[in-house]
Amino acid sequence: MNEIIKCKYVSNYIDIPENIKCLDTIYIAKNDKEKWIVFACPCGKCDQKIILNQANPPYWEFILMKNKITISNSLNQPISGCFDKFHLRNNNIEWIN
Ligand SMILES: [Zn+2]
Repeated sequence: MNEIIKCKYVSNYIDIPENIKCLDTIYIAKNDKEKWIVFACPCGKCDQKIILNQANPPYWEFILMKNKITISNSLNQPISGCFDKFHLRNNNIEWIN
């Protein structure tokens, strides 16, 4: 399932658990110096983390609307998974073939 259940805010990147194996939580680390979006690769096979920096180009951002998260950047670039690229819109993983 590619269902996001919740977004969890932490104050530092190091507060994000090392092993994130399930895509049920997206971690957002935000303080004065750092902004990160971190979640498990949605392929469900690898144990990689997707790590997006909000402070450097291409400036990843997220929008939470009615508990549904969309992650994007100003260039509309897809997110890179372990093999394929995808968009995450309204809690849905949209793989790019
Ligand atoms: Zn993967």
